[in-house]
Amino acid sequence: MPTSDRNLRLDDTVRTRLWRKLVETIERHWATVDSSRVAPVLDPEALRRSLDELPLERGLRPDVVMDYVVDGLTNAQVHTAHRRYFGLYNPAPTTMGVVADALVAGFNPQLAAWSHSPFAAEVEQYLIRETARRFGYDVAEADGVFASGGAEANHTAVLAALTRAVPTWAERGADGSPLTMYVTAEAHDSLRKAARLCGIGSRSVRQVPTTDGLRMDVTALRAMLAEDRAVGRHPFMVIATAGTTSAGIIDVIDDVADVVNAEPEPTWYHVDAAWGGAVALSQEHRHLLAGIHRADSITFDAHKWLSVPMGAGMFLTRHKNALSHTFSTDNVYMPRDAAGLSVVDPFSHSIQWSRRFTGLKLFMSIATAGWSGYADVVNRQIGLGEALRSKLTERRWRIVNDTKLPVVCFAESEGDPADRARVDAIVRRVVQSGDAWVSSAVLSSGQACIRACITNFMTDDTDLEKLVDALDRARQ
Ligand SMILES: *Cc1c(COP(=O)(O)O)cnc(C)c1O
Repeated sequence: MPTSDRNLRLDDTVRTRLWRKLVETIERHWATVDSSRVAPVLDPEALRRSLDELPLERGLRPDVVMDYVVDGLTNAQVHTAHRRYFGLYNPAPTTMGVVADALVAGFNPQLAAWSHSPFAAEVEQYLIRETARRFGYDVAEADGVFASGGAEANHTAVLAALTRAVPTWAERGADGSPLTMYVTAEAHDSLRKAARLCGIGSRSVRQVPTTDGLRMDVTALRAMLAEDRAVGRHPFMVIATAGTTSAGIIDVIDDVADVVNAEPEPTWYHVDAAWGGAVALSQEHRHLLAGIHRADSITFDAHKWLSVPMGAGMFLTRHKNALSHTFSTDNVYMPRDAAGLSVVDPFSHSIQWSRRFTGLKLFMSIATAGWSGYADVVNRQIGLGEALRSKLTERRWRIVNDTKLPVVCFAESEGDPADRARVDAIVRRVVQSGDAWVSSAVLSSGQACIRACITNFMTDDTDLEKLVDALDRARQ
């Protein structure tokens, strides 16, 4: 081989050794991660110095490069694969998800034109249909697309809503129309960001008050919509959340749908179920999402509760043509090999153009665990969330969120509800101990709290005990 090829493909013997080392490294990481610190000591200067000192002009041996990287990942990362990472939904990756990502990198299918990667495109379409079905959509009418994550799926939702609400959107954009969209303070900030990215500005995002349970106040929503219309604003979208980021709150999806449907003008109803949507897979718990089939669109992240490696989001809609209206363009250079076939070109449905085969890690994980295997994980983790609530209450912590989902927000029984500094101090001690990872949050009620979410499918009862012990030590 010419040197230039050898540098990139590497020699057979080198590759064989490298693959073996790769597999051994991941196995070793998974075998040892629970006995290492969950979170690293933070030192940005040391990391930058070590990068600057690498002699990369000529390149290094592949095993040396790999050792350098593995050392960095081991010592300078919050380990989501750790059983006591009670975190922000970043999962321990499924084994089949890792296999899938390796296959995707190796085969490198292009998910822009259908004809370039028919198998990949159809696997994703299958997953879109089967997921839509579980949310109660009519599969014949439903459509969807894989995204990098929930933020991109939410951005897609805002674009689809604007495309329907503003007839001239594709040609002239908002064109000065005073558009408004509605979320609660507990909604994910990616929606505010989406408003900016769409050029309608964050001031178009109206904040609906919440009830005591931190759910969207539907009476207030109805009043805001009426007032805004009366003063000439143009409400185009209402967004409910199924499993808020801080507190796992599920808005009353059916009641919000009633309000939206009663509007004089068509208004897009989106449900952000990035994390909580996974309960749709559970026979026992799917009632928590009652009414979600009435949403015009849904955001759902496979890289949260379904534990595939990042990033894998999904956007689903019950309107067959919404995505192609939003994204298709005329162009002269895309392959036309599939002209005449009844197929969907992924690029005509997506913010992205060249795109990797995002859906494979979900497909291979489901194909192995079965949909029922995932239902078991969801049910078990909901049970662990309940167990954690009881343990915390026994040790005289006060639970401050009301949800069935396995995210627990709590504070000291006698503490000042607004004292975030105290909460942060406890969280910092737990995280610095390396024994567990939790975070802090301030709910829209003003309540500062510690937040522990059952995130890792390996977490069990003994991990809950260790977490509660670490918390007790930290509050002393
Ligand atoms: C995580 C999350 C998002 C953002 O999704 P990413 O995958 O991080 O882009 C949006 N909404 C909710 C409710 C989330 O939990």
